[in-house]
Amino acid sequence: MVRAENIHKSFGRLEVLKGIDLEVRPGEVMCVIGPSGSGKSTFLRCINHLEKIDGGRLWVAGHLVGYREKNGKLYELRDREVSAQRREIGMVFQRFNLFPHMTTLENIMEAPVRVKREPKAQVRERALKLMDRVGLADKVDSYPAQLSGGQQQRVAIARALAMEPKLMLFDEPTSALDPELVGEVLEVMKQLALDGMTMVVVTHEIGFAREVGDSLVFMDGGVVVEKGPPREVLANPQHPRTQDFLSKVL
Ligand code: ATP
Ligand code: MG
Repeated sequence: MVRAENIHKSFGRLEVLKGIDLEVRPGEVMCVIGPSGSGKSTFLRCINHLEKIDGGRLWVAGHLVGYREKNGKLYELRDREVSAQRREIGMVFQRFNLFPHMTTLENIMEAPVRVKREPKAQVRERALKLMDRVGLADKVDSYPAQLSGGQQQRVAIARALAMEPKLMLFDEPTSALDPELVGEVLEVMKQLALDGMTMVVVTHEIGFAREVGDSLVFMDGGVVVEKGPPREVLANPQHPRTQDFLSKVL
């Protein structure tokens, strides 16, 4: 579903990604951990082309992200084509970024109606099902400010799902939440994983990575230091940098 080959990305003179090679199979849940500044968010943003890569190749669902390849040369896609690619990818951030002036149902319906131009009635039905799926069927007419952080984040997940993405990216979706609200969001993500969604999850929730993840990636200094089945990496980290990081967070 995702194939990253030798991804490089710099901001000015700061080289943030120094050759990332990763593959995410359909249905796989890949969790990504690593110290602050190691390039985790940048990598996620490259996957949906919110950041342009400087080197390497990146495919999502068989499409080269942001470019067309012809006779070995890369040509940038037009904005319209990039948007079409991005529609296949849902993203959930640390901050929920819901539209404050819209009800939760309107939040969820917005992109499918405006961007995909789907019939309203059809989208509404799907949005209601999604609200039910994230456990918020009774909150369809609430405004974001009337919801807890955990509830808002569940709406944000439903909103991303409304576009029927092939891939979901999560960037520390629970780190802005009060501790008692973390569980309800992780539970929604776990159900999504069980339903077969392909997911890349940057998280500090080691328990989630162990229980739900199919693979665990440890990033440090813009490279993938270690990757493997979560239980193995957590119980028996091979690299000293992984050992050092885990000794601080476990
Ligand atoms: P955290 O755990 O704190 O979220 P991270 O692993 O997600 O960290 P990134 O956000 O990917 O790290 O940032 C990696 C490096 O790139 C950092 O040094 C950051 O300051 C830098 N960086 C990220 N985005 C930009 C940008 N738009 N312009 C300049 N530098 C940036
Ligand atoms: Mg980050």
